[in-house]
This record gives sequence, structure tokens and C-alpha cells, in this order.
Amino acid sequence: MSLIKCTQMNSRILLNMCKYDSPRFLTREYSYKTIKRPDPRTLKMPTPESAPNLIEIIKEKIRLNGPITVAEYMHIVTTNPTEGYYMKKEVIGEAGDFITSPEISQLFGEILGIWFYAETQKMCEAKPLQIVELGPGKATLLIDMLRVLNKIGYTSHDLSIHLVEISSTMQSIQANRLCVSHRPVEIDMPHNHEGETLSGIKVYWYNDLKKVPQNFSWYVAHEFFDVLPIHKFEKTEKGWRELLIDIDDTGKLLYRLSGNETQAVKMLIRPPLDSGDRTELEISARSLGVARQLAKRVDEHGGLALIADYGHEGEKGDTFRAFQKHQVVDPLETPGKSDLTADVDFSQLRIAASKTPGEENYALVVGPVKQKDFLEQCQGELRLQVLIDAAKKDEDKEKIKSAYEMLVDPNKMGERFKFMAFYPSTMASILTKYPPLGFSNLKP
Ligand code: SAH
Repeated sequence: MSLIKCTQMNSRILLNMCKYDSPRFLTREYSYKTIKRPDPRTLKMPTPESAPNLIEIIKEKIRLNGPITVAEYMHIVTTNPTEGYYMKKEVIGEAGDFITSPEISQLFGEILGIWFYAETQKMCEAKPLQIVELGPGKATLLIDMLRVLNKIGYTSHDLSIHLVEISSTMQSIQANRLCVSHRPVEIDMPHNHEGETLSGIKVYWYNDLKKVPQNFSWYVAHEFFDVLPIHKFEKTEKGWRELLIDIDDTGKLLYRLSGNETQAVKMLIRPPLDSGDRTELEISARSLGVARQLAKRVDEHGGLALIADYGHEGEKGDTFRAFQKHQVVDPLETPGKSDLTADVDFSQLRIAASKTPGEENYALVVGPVKQKDFLEQCQGELRLQVLIDAAKKDEDKEKIKSAYEMLVDPNKMGERFKFMAFYPSTMASILTKYPPLGFSNLKP
């Protein structure tokens, strides 16, 4: 199918979706995670009550084994099964700590659904199809994507949903929003929870991407990579050293630079990452591993992967920060009570996912492009108009419009958030002829 046909088809899908259930919109303005690292002197102090067990777990580990890496700290804070940050009930949204694009406008998930469908048309019919989401949050993105797929004619016979989610609290939030019935899986299965949607689509939950069946899939990771643990490094006169977390005499957590090369310095710092006059570096070994797995899966078993997050292309080195109640706070204060995050270095993901000489089965990588450009090239404005026309009250029309503007405004989320996609390497010649939607002017 030609790109023009694809584009015409997208327009038709968008316009055919006029008969909408009431459009969803926010009732007030939220703040989203900002990319700017704040001046530490102006940081707000987080609310005093901490997760007592988590801070004790961290301090005990340091007392017994010495300073820990930032990656170890993030790992404990995010994934501790009882005290971890994502075990909190309200993380995303007004009552939580931050807001994300799918929560701001339903257009976001709908456009992603259309993008996956349009790009898949260049490959095959894509039935049966697995939708795999990493870190689905409140499952809002998925609900919006499913609405589009339903309009296009996908049924429970064609689709299954596979969610990679570390937190049992988030799993229940997702299950309650997506499913009419769901249950934990007791027996030894790769997934630990399962359910069905109202239309009978099977939903499975896993704690690791490795456990998801290797079939033709759409992989989506929105604001997932930014929560994965990072190592932080600084260049000294003696060479690269790792920033570690220690405790002072008063029992307060603080940063300390390693005296010698740590294992992570030896393993992770290599060209081209340490090139130029960089003095600070953040590397997420976990992110590189996940990006590589996604690339291999897409290449070997077919499908597409779409990564959307705030990030840069290697020009930043000090972006680790924390959010609590929509405010930036000190990441070492009250661990488990604030969201720990670092900007995604898309240049590192590209290296991890791309085919290197002598290696087979890695993906074609496109992007990153700015969120604004991606959404606009996917005809976001056309869909916006459909939604505005479907809203009954003027004030609702205004809310829908301002929510979309928040996503595309260069001063808000339009430029800070970026999109990257992985295609099977066999798509090279097709993509040269019919360039990837949303990534125009970019060669794979
Ligand atoms: N994608 C959602 C939520 C982003 S928040 C949105 O954009 O609204 C990050 C999500 O990733 C949460 O659901 C969190 O519980 C999950 N998560 C964090 N660390 C994870 C890990 N190591 N493995 C799987 N899921 C993880």
C-alpha cells in the first residue's frame, strides 16, 4: 500500500470515529514531569513521612556492604514488593505525583493505535496480534488504543493483551479498568495474573518482558524507560568515576564519588559514550537490555515497537530527579514516596537496538522525533477537530483543545517528549519507498 493510500486510510479511520462516546477531558491543568533539572537550593522538601521500611532497607544495605550505586538505589525504591514506589495507590494523576500524555488527552492513545495499524499494513494483516505494553500505568493508553482497534474491526479472536508490570498495585488498577473478570495465576505460568475484557479479549500480566510469548506483536513503552535504573558517572582527573549513595554520621543519605573505577565504569563506559568533552554521563544497563530485547523480538517474530518518553540524544548527563505531588524533590529524601526518573538517552537505545557489523537479528531504528512532529504527522489535528465537533458544550470543546495543545506545545510537552520506533530489518526497502509515518525526513 502506498503511503498516500495509508494516509488517506488514516484520515478515513479518524473521521469514521466521529460517533464517539463522550470525549474524555481533564477538569483542571496538571503539571507533567519537566525536563529541566532544578537548582537544588530551590527544591521543595518532600512531605516528611517516609516509607520507614524502605529507608531502613537501604541504610542497612549501605552499612553492611558500603555505598550503593544510583542504579541499585532506584531498583530498590521502584521494585521492592511491599514498600516500592509503584506500590503506592495514587502515583499518576491529580492526586498522584505526575501526569502523563495518555491521561491528558484520549487523542494520544488513539493516534498511537492508528500509527501501529497504519504501519502494520505495510507488512501483513497482523492477525492474530499481541499488544504488549511495558509499564502500563492506569492502562489509559491501552483503553484508548483498543477503542480504535474495535472501530477497525479487531475482535477478541484476533487480539491478546500482554502487560509487563512490576507492581501488584498497578496490576490491580489496570485489571479493574480493563477487565470484567481477572484472577491471580497460582500455578507455574510465565504470567502471574490474567483476565478478560468486556469484549472477551484475554489479558495477561508478567513481571518481565522475557516471559511474554514471542509472537507478532505491537510493543508500546510510554514513560517506561525513564523509570529504569541508571548508573551515574563523572569524569575526574583520574578518569571516569561512579556516583554512589552513602550515609553520613547523622544517618542522612548523600552522594559520594567512587575512589576507584567501579565494575559499572569498566563494563558500561566505552566509545562513543565517553567521547568529546563530556564530564557527566548516565547509563541505564537495564534500558539497553530491554531495547535490545525489543529489537530482537520485532526482527525475529515480526511487529513494531514504539518508545515514547522525555529524553535527549546524548547531550545531557545529569538528569536524575524525583517528583512528589507534581513538585520536584530531592531523590534521596523519603525514598519510596517520590517518583525517581532520568531522561532517556535515545542515542544509547539506538546503539543497543541497531544491527552492528557481525550481528544478526536487530531492528531498523527510526527517530527520535519530537512528540509535536509525531502527533502532527499522524494527523492529530484532524482527530482533534472530530473530538471538538463531538463535544456538546463550548467549555468542553475548549478543554479538549487545550489538552491537545499541552501535548504539542513546544514549551510544554511538544519538544521534550520524543518518539522512537523499531521495525523488522526486512522492512528496509519498503520503508525507503514508504517512509515511516510520523518520522518523515528520517531514513531508517
Ligand atoms: N505508561 C504509563 C505509566 C508510566 S509510569 C503512562 O504513560 O501513563 C511507569 C509504569 O511502569 C508504572 O506502571 C510502573 O508500575 C511500571 N514499572 C516501573 N518499573 C517497572 C519495571 N522494572 N518493570 C515493569 N514495570 C515497571
